[in-house]
Amino acid sequence: MQNRLFQAQKMESLGILAGGVAHDFNNLLQIIGGNLELLLSSKYPEDTDMPRLKTVIWSIERAGKLVQQLLLFGRKAVTQRKPLDLNHEVDEAIKILERTIPKMILISRHLASNLWSVSADSVQVEQVLLNLGTNAVDAMPNGGKLLVETKNIVLDVGPVSGEADAEPGRYVLLTVTDSGCGMTRETINHVFDPFFTTKEVGKGTGLGLASTYGIVKSHGGHIQCYSEPGQGTTFKIYWPALAQDGLHSELPSSSDEPQGG
Ligand code: ADP
Repeated sequence: MQNRLFQAQKMESLGILAGGVAHDFNNLLQIIGGNLELLLSSKYPEDTDMPRLKTVIWSIERAGKLVQQLLLFGRKAVTQRKPLDLNHEVDEAIKILERTIPKMILISRHLASNLWSVSADSVQVEQVLLNLGTNAVDAMPNGGKLLVETKNIVLDVGPVSGEADAEPGRYVLLTVTDSGCGMTRETINHVFDPFFTTKEVGKGTGLGLASTYGIVKSHGGHIQCYSEPGQGTTFKIYWPALAQDGLHSELPSSSDEPQGG
C-alpha cells in the first residue's frame, strides 16, 4: 500500500515535470518548424542544401512526435471526447495490427455484447491499443498469442488501491494479454516511467506506456500490469463507463491483486 502510494505520487510528479517541459518544447518546435517552412517557401535552396534541410525537417517531425507523447503522459494534450464503443475501437486497432504483424502471431478477441459506452478521445484510445498491441508483438519474437477482451464491471471498491482517484463504480474493463517473454519485477516497477525501455537503441523510445498511462489517467481510468518472466503479460485498463447507460445486471467482482504497475 505504502509502495503504491509512493508509485502514484512518483507518477504524479513525473507527469507534472514532463508535461511542463514538453509544453515549452512544443512551442519552441513550432517556432523552428514554422520559420523553416517560411524560409523554404521564400527561397529556392541549392540542391546541395536539400539533404541537410530534409534531415532538419525530419528531426523536427520526430521531436514533435516525442513531445506529443510526453504531453499525453503529462496529461496536457488536448482531448476530443465523445461517447465511444470500445469494442469498435478494438476491432479497428486489430485491423491495423494485423496488417503489420508476422503470421506466427495469432490475435483473438473476446468482446462483451451490450458493452457500456465510455467518454473518450478515439485517437488516444487507438494509440493506447496500438501501444499495448505492438509491445505484445515485440515480446513474442518467435510467435505467440495476443488476446483482447472487454467486459462491463461494477466495482464496490476502487480498482487500484493507493490511487486517490480510484473510485468504486461502473467501468469498462479492457484486458490485453500476450504469451510473450514477460517482465521481471524490476521492469514492472518502471514500465510506465517515461524513457524507460529495454529495447535496443532506435527501436524503443520508452514513451509508449508512459503516454498510455497519461491517456488512461486523463480519462479518469486506471491501468494495471501483471507479468511473470517467461509467462506473458496482461494489461488491464478500467475506463469509467458513461453515466447515461442503464445499470446492467453484473455486480461486484474482481478485486484481484495486481503484480505491479
Ligand atoms: P518501448 O516500447 O519504446 O520500449 P514502452 O513504454 O512501450 O516503451 O515499454 C517500456 C518497456 O516495457 C519495454 O521496453 C519492455 O521492456 C516492457 N514491456 C512493455 N510491454 C511489454 C510486454 N507486453 N511484454 C514484455 N515487456 C513489455
